[in-house]
Amino acid sequence: MAGNDTLSSARDAGRQLLTEVESKQLLVEAGIPTTSALLAANKDEAVRLSSEIGFPAVLKIASSSIAHKSDVGGVKLGLANEDEVGQAFDEMMDTIGNDVPDAEIQGVSVQSMARPGIELVLGMSKDPQFGPVLMFGLGGVLVEVLKDVAFRIVPLTPRDAAQMVREIKGFAVLEGYRGQEPVDVAAIEESLLKLSRFVEERPMIKELDLNPVFAYSDGLTVVDARIVLEDA
Ligand code: ADP
Ligand code: MG
Repeated sequence: MAGNDTLSSARDAGRQLLTEVESKQLLVEAGIPTTSALLAANKDEAVRLSSEIGFPAVLKIASSSIAHKSDVGGVKLGLANEDEVGQAFDEMMDTIGNDVPDAEIQGVSVQSMARPGIELVLGMSKDPQFGPVLMFGLGGVLVEVLKDVAFRIVPLTPRDAAQMVREIKGFAVLEGYRGQEPVDVAAIEESLLKLSRFVEERPMIKELDLNPVFAYSDGLTVVDARIVLEDA
């Protein structure tokens, strides 16, 4: 299985934290839509890849030692042309070189700007007693401050997925408010079920964090993904 290759090669290299590029690659194989990210090893490659995928582009640091990219100046959004990409690359490497000099850098991930949507968070963590547990919530303040999240033990049934989405207090937001269109709740349920199968088949995944996922009136897309592997 191609997905297991990505996992085993990271683990053979002693890396527990997969990069966003690797994590999104695995999600694509699981059938979950993402803003696919390409790895650029240097500035020229970053410029070339961004003009290939089209502007506005996004650059993010790709490092197996950086878990939170924006905390270290490792996310540059809405880059309008090749010059801006080149400049963003230099700035990012400067800041990170100064602030996190020991970070092992694989390069930068290059991706398209996702169109704005309602922010969701989907995750998996392992409970000592119940094993893999999926988490669902609305992004940003609602998850971080209000802890408005739902949990279900893997494997999820379609009924579990339907209940999870509906039991958060923020569900009203998904149904549409102040003239906003309702989001595609069926697409969220489907992604939860795919995610459940994905982690069930890959016990070497210790932790998974899709934050944010943008939900639309038609489908959704994973904007950031982080996968952590079990100790070798
Ligand atoms: P991290 O969580 O590691 O700091 P993210 O990849 O989540 O980095 O990026 C930080 C924020 O930037 C996201 O929460 C999102 O709002 C925005 N963002 C990141 N990637 C994209 C993208 N491809 N399109 C649009 N917005 C993005
Ligand atoms: Mg994130």
